[in-house]
Amino acid sequence: MSLPKVFVTRIIPPEAQEILNRVAEIEIWPQDTKPPQEVIIQKAAECIGLFTTIEDQINSEVLQSGKDSLKIVSNYAVGYDNFDIDTATKNGIIMCNTPDVLSQTTADLAFGLMLSIARNIVKGDNFVRSGKWTHWHPSTLLGRDIYGANLLVVGLGRIGLEVCRRAIGFGMEIFYHSRTRKLNLEKELGINYVSKLKDGISKADFISINTIMNDQTYHLFGKEEFNTMKNSAIIVNTARGPIIDMESLYEALKNNQIAGAAVDVTEPEPIPNNHPILSLENFVVTPHIGSASIETRKKMAIAAAKNIEAYLLKKTIPSSINS
Ligand code: NAP
Repeated sequence: MSLPKVFVTRIIPPEAQEILNRVAEIEIWPQDTKPPQEVIIQKAAECIGLFTTIEDQINSEVLQSGKDSLKIVSNYAVGYDNFDIDTATKNGIIMCNTPDVLSQTTADLAFGLMLSIARNIVKGDNFVRSGKWTHWHPSTLLGRDIYGANLLVVGLGRIGLEVCRRAIGFGMEIFYHSRTRKLNLEKELGINYVSKLKDGISKADFISINTIMNDQTYHLFGKEEFNTMKNSAIIVNTARGPIIDMESLYEALKNNQIAGAAVDVTEPEPIPNNHPILSLENFVVTPHIGSASIETRKKMAIAAAKNIEAYLLKKTIPSSINS
């Protein structure tokens, strides 16, 4: 008996391939870059499952193409703003992600970015490499203390919580803004809730963005929000690029309205090489590597594969978004 077909849009760790191989006939896109959209549309019509990444747009066209064949799509990520969930739900297609396994790793990067701006780690590295370190001076590259500073976490979900836990270790004063208030976490962690985002922004020394990307969070940070931030404040974004309006961020950084920004995500991605923000020293950027550790990527691939395996074995799907 032939096995159901699953199309995998990137080369994935062997452990995840083994899981899929036991239950499906898998075809793996062999190239480093994402498959063209026409390929995904065609595969949706031929396969029962798609194993995707955040670069693959699983939009209404793909889901319409798969209306008679496609039953499950599993993203190799926790974020799923590349999915048209409404159309998938209408067509009875189960959409999945990989929550939890990457929360620690992504929170680690948020802190790495925060430190890299606050303590001039990237600037210091450039300073040494470019031969500017000719003598020791007490005011060379003075940064800002994280210890004792106010941190605003925007979006207290899985990753936001891990950012808070790290911030406690760093001796920060933590407050958060989220859709829903979390009294149990306030008590457990000693953190405070701000109902109005602006109130949080105005008193923060550091801001960590950890919300999901949706219509409500698109350009959540723009001109007004940067005007509200302290001149000494630093913003870190490890969530999604479009949550920050990059043009307003550029202006705020250029005019020293805020002290710095460190982001793992940009709008667009990849950020064009000639984007003016890349010329600013108070800006640090990494190429969307929040969950990119060897251990975590393996766990994510296994989790994404297990979603498809569970569907094919008629078991409870570990991480379904819409069922
Ligand atoms: P999560 O547990 O769903 O947390 C997201 C939080 O966002 C939720 O707690 C939610 O609040 C909050 N939220 C949603 N809309 C909001 C709004 N309008 N205003 C304020 N808060 C709002 O997700 P997660 O696992 O922590 O992941 C968060 C995001 O990080 C993902 O969606 C993904 O885009 C991004 N991410 C990026 C990387 C990377 O490589 N850089 C890696 C992993 C994840 P309530 O709980 O209060 O409703």
